[in-house]
Amino acid sequence: MKWEKCRRCGSNRVVKRSALGIGLFLIFISLMLYGIGSTLNDRITAMLLPTLGLAIIGILLSFFSGGLVCKDCELRWRPR
Ligand SMILES: [Zn+2]
Repeated sequence: MKWEKCRRCGSNRVVKRSALGIGLFLIFISLMLYGIGSTLNDRITAMLLPTLGLAIIGILLSFFSGGLVCKDCELRWRPR
């Protein structure tokens, strides 16, 4: 992700904001679910699919989302 000036006001006070925290949180939750699932031996295959789905969403979120935020005019956008 490239840094750039604010598109609306041209300010330099632009910060990167990523969804890494949310992504890691989802991965953490999925690991917890997997831990709970592994204690219930017969349910482990049933737990696997939603757990895997949640982990994948978490990974995708942490790598492919986020953007730039202007601290002056609160504009949020995604750089190309
Ligand atoms: Zn701005």
